Amino acid sequence: MFRGIQRRRHRRGRGALLRAGLAVVALILTGAAAASAAEDPFAERRAALTRSIERLAAAVYPVAGRAAMMPQVLAALEETPRHEFVPPKLVSLAYANRPLPIGFGQTISQPFIVAFMTDLLEPEPDDIVLEVGTGSGYQAAVLAPLVRRLCTIEIVEPLGRSAAARLARLGYDNVAVRIGDGYNGWEACGPFDSIDVTAAPGHVPPPLVRQLKPGGRMIIPVGGLFAPQQLVLVEKRADGQVSTRQLMLVRFVPLRRSGR
Ligand code: SAH
Repeated sequence: MFRGIQRRRHRRGRGALLRAGLAVVALILTGAAAASAAEDPFAERRAALTRSIERLAAAVYPVAGRAAMMPQVLAALEETPRHEFVPPKLVSLAYANRPLPIGFGQTISQPFIVAFMTDLLEPEPDDIVLEVGTGSGYQAAVLAPLVRRLCTIEIVEPLGRSAAARLARLGYDNVAVRIGDGYNGWEACGPFDSIDVTAAPGHVPPPLVRQLKPGGRMIIPVGGLFAPQQLVLVEKRADGQVSTRQLMLVRFVPLRRSGR
């Protein structure tokens, strides 16, 4: 009988220990969640935005004849702190799926469009990519982790300088930013596996097509200032033949030309 009580006590003791242990684990987990929320108070909003973009893509992709959005693109979107790329007074809107003004008459693109364009480029870890229109640097930040090197050109000097400083501060060390007219591309950085143009010219710039590798692809909005713009996919085949495909109507700021 004595041994029986002892055994029961022992069992109770183990149960209590287990409960205490679980409580400690729970505390640690809650602590970890609290710590990560404190480190990044936007994590939940960013996750919700990413899920809504995934749903939107699932709804529109079949119509566009595409499969689902690449999981690595969604992961990059979920990891990119958009609130760092919008003006301080608009931080509360950073995770709304809409473009926002960034000064100098320019905008940070809508997250869905950023994800869509990134996905259409079909980025590979070894790719060398050109972006025309750095703006805030947000699109560059989404794309950079998915490729080897990203060269990006901005024509508005203060925007280019602050995007370069922001990207460096946030640790995007495979991105090079240059101030200039992206119509001419960036010969020394190319040739490119893909090119992402985030301002709309009236036609596809021939220097960009030239700087595309065989097998490369370019996404570019094309249209006049007051005419509707089409998002165009330009593909250069292995034999150098170029084909273009209109994907959908979009609205981007116009591509400006230096000295014009
Ligand atoms: N990718 C940006 C979107 C910026 S909007 C982002 O994620 O924030 C388009 C940008 O293209 C603007 O900053 C505009 O100044 C720039 N731009 C317009 N014409 C250009 C040109 N010819 N060369 C390089 N950048 C240009």
